[in-house]
Amino acid sequence: MTFDNVDEIMARLTAVFVGKFEDYQIKEYCDFLMPLDFELMHKTINYMVHQGTKFIPAIGETLTVYKTIEATENENRMFEQKEDFCYTCENKGAIAVFSQAGDTKLWKAYYCTECDRGRNAAYDGRRVSKYKSKYYMEPISKVMDPKQLAQINLLKKREVIPMPQYVRDLLQKTCNNMAV
Ligand SMILES: [Zn+2]
Repeated sequence: MTFDNVDEIMARLTAVFVGKFEDYQIKEYCDFLMPLDFELMHKTINYMVHQGTKFIPAIGETLTVYKTIEATENENRMFEQKEDFCYTCENKGAIAVFSQAGDTKLWKAYYCTECDRGRNAAYDGRRVSKYKSKYYMEPISKVMDPKQLAQINLLKKREVIPMPQYVRDLLQKTCNNMAV
């Protein structure tokens, strides 16, 4: 954030919480705020007010709440993007599944049943009549649950910050209610 943003946040902290900054704390708090996001910091203060914090929170406490809100927002953003991105096939249209029968190890491709890319891949495969029998692709749903696969890929992709569900729900509600 800019110097003006830092000033505004510092003013808001002293306005909504009890207490005041000692001289030695001011520089420390300003240095802490500088690299943070202005809007997220406002939401952090909103959340702490809502939570019943009375006194100007210590840097560590503020940072914990800030990081939690940041993680929740990132997560929400990922869910918003989910429509454009197919987590089942990771936009590849097909999924390679490993199987082993005795000493024979093989990768077999299945088309994705959850997105257009997958449906097109299946369609294209059948259209090439010359190789039809050899390259016929089966749907992924035949060997695994595509929704479950999407969940696994989604978890693999994001950095998970362990947070109980009720905390997420509460944060979500608070952020929505108090969005600046
Ligand atoms: Zn897909």
